[in-house]
Amino acid sequence: MSVQDMIDGPILGTASTFPVFDPATGLVIADVSDGTAVDASAAVDAAAAAFPGWAATAPRERAEILRRAYELMVVDRDRLTDLICSENGKPRADARAEVDYAAEFFRWFGEEAVRTEGGYGINPAGTAHTVVTHRPVGVAALVTPWNFPAAMATRKIGPALAAGCTVVLKPAAETPLTALAIAELLSEAGVPDGVVNVVPTTDPGAVVGTWLADSRVRKISFTGSTGVGRLLLRQAADRVVNASMELGGNAPFVVAADADIDAAVAGAMIAKFRGSGQACTAANRFYVHSSVADEFVARFGAPIRALRVGPASDPATEIGPLVSARAAAGVRALVDDAVLDGATIAYQADIPAGECYVAPMLLTDVRPTARILGEEIFGPVAPVVVWDDEDTLLRWINESEFGLAAYVYSGRLQDAMRIGAAIDAGMVGINRGVVSDPAAPFGGTKQSGLGREGAREGLREFQETQYFSIDT
Ligand code: NAD
Repeated sequence: MSVQDMIDGPILGTASTFPVFDPATGLVIADVSDGTAVDASAAVDAAAAAFPGWAATAPRERAEILRRAYELMVVDRDRLTDLICSENGKPRADARAEVDYAAEFFRWFGEEAVRTEGGYGINPAGTAHTVVTHRPVGVAALVTPWNFPAAMATRKIGPALAAGCTVVLKPAAETPLTALAIAELLSEAGVPDGVVNVVPTTDPGAVVGTWLADSRVRKISFTGSTGVGRLLLRQAADRVVNASMELGGNAPFVVAADADIDAAVAGAMIAKFRGSGQACTAANRFYVHSSVADEFVARFGAPIRALRVGPASDPATEIGPLVSARAAAGVRALVDDAVLDGATIAYQADIPAGECYVAPMLLTDVRPTARILGEEIFGPVAPVVVWDDEDTLLRWINESEFGLAAYVYSGRLQDAMRIGAAIDAGMVGINRGVVSDPAAPFGGTKQSGLGREGAREGLREFQETQYFSIDT
């Protein structure tokens, strides 16, 4: 299969291509046009030309197109699931859940497109009426990671289109096929040519750098690692480009003395192992109260040991390969380092042969200062630390430079809320292992990012405020 980029509708014949691999087999599944700086500029030409028309399109019409895109994604669920499985490697159930979650952003933002609020007031001196409006920020550059190839794209495209922006999107080179398929569905749903332009590339610096240097691009919305986010913020500073950043996480998972251990284990399995541990919201460090530590470790360890690891093509698979051999080697290195530092591999699952597989495992005896607790693991490894007093627990948690998600399990809501409120993070799951929801503002504090996606806040990221001061 050979796939072109989507600039101003599909175009044919870009000179060079790059291969996309199935991480389970290492086999090439498609060749995709390799976008250059020239393609990046052509995409902005198309988006800038389409912007006035799309911004002037009635909100109801934009809403209905997004709604149709939602419906088309639902109808096409199986094909999109297959694409995610083959280019990302995640198990079928995870890929299927991602498609449903991703489609929901089109439905949610279709509903929000007709609800942009403004404001009215009289100034304190009584000399002017103040009318506040919100308008689309302009051409938006969107950059997405490989770990949720559908949802990270729709979480940006949905609000951008609802707000009246046109977009240029650069998906991760590991997973461009899902983004291209979504762009085709948007076109089928009635999105005019030039409104959504996708430029896959193996040279992200050239493509995104071109966009950030182009005065027609007014917005960068990035999801990925903190390191790349920092780099893009520096580039955005040159032209003071409006920036939203969804960056890395290092979620703590707290189990209090009075937690329901069955519920905590069920939540931990989801929070840790969704997407084979490759989620920015993944529980990265488990803090378990000493009075329940042995029980939690035993009850959490048993289902970890039983996890079925294999390719997405096997319906029994619960944990897939990591996205690349490099990613897998990085996770193994973190585990080796923890073990050298005194940690014990208390439980682990069996894995098939293949350099992208990492055994799901539970580590005990982990020192609170171990490197594995300070870095985003991005793999199926659960390090457990035992805590006794809340002040020390909160100090350990808040020492992290990240502040994306956190999870707290406690039998007393007041305790869970107190601990959650003391954690410096954008999202806290209380007695649940999932925080992602299209209707809730997703995002982090500290070096986990700037701005929010989803909910009404997500729409505002693609709008500018304008106010009119009207003489009385
Ligand atoms: P990454 O930062 O390596 O890549 C993300 C995107 O940036 C990709 O499209 C990549 O091609 C592009 N990129 C890389 N170098 C670039 C450069 N020099 N200039 C412009 N673009 C560049 O991250 P990743 O490995 O693809 O994804 C994993 C990371 O994403 C993790 O840190 C994870 O926590 C984070 N993430 C965050 C969220 C969130 O919402 N906060 C969601 C998913 C993933």
